[in-house]
Parts: sequence; C-alpha cells; structure tokens
Amino acid sequence: MNILIYAEVRQGKLKNTALELLTLAQSLNPTAIDIALFSEDAGISKAFEGFSIREIFVISGVPLYQNDIVLNSLKKIITSSSYDCILGPASPTGRDLFPRLSAQLKAGLLTEVIDLKKENNKLVATRPIYAGKCLVTCSSTTPLTLVTLRPNVIAIQKPATSGSPKVTNQVAEKSSLPLKVVEIRQGKSTRPDLTEATLIISGGRAMANSDNFKILFEAADVIGASVGASRAAVDSGYAPHEMQVGQTGKTVNPNLYIACGISGSIQHLAGMRTSKIIVAINTDIDAPIFQKADYGIVADLFKAVPVLTEEFKKLKGKD
Ligand SMILES: Cc1cc2nc3c(=O)[nH]c(=O)nc-3n(C[C@H](O)[C@H](O)[C@H](O)COP(=O)(O)OP(=O)(O)OC[C@H]3O[C@@H](n4cnc5c(N)ncnc54)[C@H](O)[C@@H]3O)c2cc1C
Repeated sequence: MNILIYAEVRQGKLKNTALELLTLAQSLNPTAIDIALFSEDAGISKAFEGFSIREIFVISGVPLYQNDIVLNSLKKIITSSSYDCILGPASPTGRDLFPRLSAQLKAGLLTEVIDLKKENNKLVATRPIYAGKCLVTCSSTTPLTLVTLRPNVIAIQKPATSGSPKVTNQVAEKSSLPLKVVEIRQGKSTRPDLTEATLIISGGRAMANSDNFKILFEAADVIGASVGASRAAVDSGYAPHEMQVGQTGKTVNPNLYIACGISGSIQHLAGMRTSKIIVAINTDIDAPIFQKADYGIVADLFKAVPVLTEEFKKLKGKD
C-alpha cells in the first residue's frame, strides 16, 4: 500500500496534524509513505526526521492556501504515481480540499475519521455520525481512498528505524480559476486553535458576561489550555464566535475538556463528546453534561474555577 500525506503548513510552520497523519500511516504497514507540503522553506522537511518516508515533495509558490493551485499540484503528484490512499487533516483546509480532490480523481472519500485500520488489504475507517451520537465503520469501494483524520485522535510516535527520504522541491501548478486569496486573517487569540488544543476550558451561559471569562483565561494560562464557549455564551456576546464549540461551532478533541456552567445540550456535545476526559462544573446536579462527564463537580463555577487555578499552580510549581 502506497500512501501520500498532505501535510498542512500554516504561517510557515508545519501543523502537528502532519505528524499525527504520519503516525497513522505507519500503523498501516505501508510499502511507502510520501509527503506533499506547500512551503517556501526548502528546509521544512527536517521536521520529519526520525520517520520512515520515501519522498517529500516541497512545493513552493503558494504563500497563502489557494484551493485550485493546491488541488492541481497535488493531482499532478497523485496521478504520476500509484497511491492507494491519500491522507489529510480534517481541518478547515482539509475539508475544503479533499472533497474537490475526491470529485476530480473519482476516488472514495472518508471524512472526519477517528480510526483507520487495514483489514484484508482494505482500509476500514471509524467515524462519528449524527452529531457524534454513533460511530460507523466504513470503507471505500474505489482503488484510491481519500481520508481526512480528526486532529488529536492519534498520539504521535516516532518509529525505531528511520530512512533518509528523497526531497523533491517543485513549483506549484498555475491557478485555473480567476480568483486569488489575498489575505488570511488570524483570530485574535494567541492560544492553540481549539480544534488542535489538547486542553480546553469552556464557559457557558452561566459566565453571565465577557469579563467573567477572565477566570477561565487565568486557569487556562496556568496549564497552557485554550478557552472555548457554548453557543449561549457566544450568542449573548460573552465570547467571540471563534470560541464556540459544538454543532455550529468547532469540533474539538482534547485530552481534557472542562465545561464550566454548560448544561450539555446535544448541540454542544456534538462538538466535544470525543474529548478523552470531560470534567463538568455545574450547580445543577441533574444537568445533562454530568451524564457525559468523567468527573463532575456540583458547585458554583465562580467558586470552583479559582480553586482549580490554585491547584493547577501548585501542580505546575507556579505558586
Ligand atoms: C441548530 C442549533 C445549533 C446549535 N449549535 C450549538 C453549538 O454549536 N454549540 C452550543 O454550545 N450550542 C449550540 N446550540 C444551542 C444549544 O441547544 C444550547 O442552547 C446551548 O448549548 C446552551 O448553552 P449553555 O449550556 O451555555 O446554556 P444553558 O443551557 O442555559 O446552561 C447553563 C448551565 O449553567 C448552569 N449554571 C448556572 N449558574 C451556574 C454557576 N454559577 N456555576 C455553575 N453552573 C451554573 C446551569 O445549571 C445550566 O446547566 C445550537 C442549537 C441549535 C438549535
């Protein structure tokens, strides 16, 4: 099985998802793994040291993600070799790119995958459906399978052995559309993007105003977490939309999700139910979030969160 990974680069830096995809690819025992990435820095391939890779394609000339150029450049690599699987991240870019690739290559597409295995030489994926309420296993019937993997579901592992990959520098294909991306505006937050964060503290309607979110940011700063919000908090103007977690917000998958004053509606759970450990702080012992939580604290968040912050400081030696 030959695998090509689309490794995402943002603002000149390789995203962690690239190494997660690589770890997944290695677990499939492939014949060869190639990487395609778009970067102006020819030295970026050093980030893959320690992994067993056949060839890395470093494609220049696309300083900002532009889907038709990326699409045409990837298509050229894919059609000039014999791949069985193309892996990419279930990120905004992956969600934009992979359906287009799938349509143009007439290849089956498995999206938002949380596990991928090889069974009888066939790729079998597990993915959530119905807003995360059920998991399905599925596979593609086409010879080439495209897969997008959710961030944070795979723990990065470097193999014991490594080779030295061939690095091929090439220039991106031309644009085939009369459009050009001129700017990508970053959100104001300097914290890890929620979709890739390993620790998240979120606030709900109970935060009561935007100033109160400070206590969540204080706790988050101690442990290096990102801060999220429920839609009720966003709609009430307590937090910007980029912080919203849920069906109409971001899908997150951290190791730890602390829900503060969030009731646990289906729509909120849709975005965070696959978090590895869920802690809920809520005054209402019957709040639905407690059915999903691994640990529940029945308390006023304005009392409980500062206590947590102090405990985090002790653990981190910051007091
Ligand atoms: C089509 C659609 C899409 C939606 N998409 C999303 C989405 O993406 N994300 C999302 O979050 N919601 C979404 N919603 C809204 C969702 O249905 C809920 O209304 C919303 O999640 C409720 O937010 P909440 O839990 O913060 O507020 P509430 O449901 O009002 O819960 C507040 C909780 O805070 C507790 N509380 C009150 N005071 C305190 C205190 N001092 N300390 C501790 N706990 C306290 C209460 O007991 C209560 O459980 C969507 C709805 C629809 C119809």
